[in-house]
Amino acid sequence: MANSGYSLRLRLETDVRGSCMRCLEDAVIHQAIDAREIDQPGGGEELTSPYVDDHDMLDVAAWARDALVLALPVQLACPDTEACEARQRAMAERGGAGRATDAEEPGGAEPGIDPRWAKLSELKFDES
Ligand SMILES: [Zn+2]
Repeated sequence: MANSGYSLRLRLETDVRGSCMRCLEDAVIHQAIDAREIDQPGGGEELTSPYVDDHDMLDVAAWARDALVLALPVQLACPDTEACEARQRAMAERGGAGRATDAEEPGGAEPGIDPRWAKLSELKFDES
């Protein structure tokens, strides 16, 4: 920037892997990040980046992690919804853990969160 301070932009693309919340298959989400930060000395809270320290060092890792957490969907699920639903039906037919009733719902209604996964939604990311 013309006067002292920084205008920063972070762009990255990454794949996030995990088990699908619905069918438990391996799921990969390709996520693109485009984040901006402004840090201006004496600019007040609005213009102070939490990722730039007093020595003008930028914590790229913390910034990237926070931006990714904000951008990701709340639940990790297969990008291919049709294949996912087919696997859920197959699981139900194999008598998977009382999920059989889900397959009988008309129009593929939104499946509820399996209680075994409910704990996952309570996960918090902290600064430690
Ligand atoms: Zn799935």
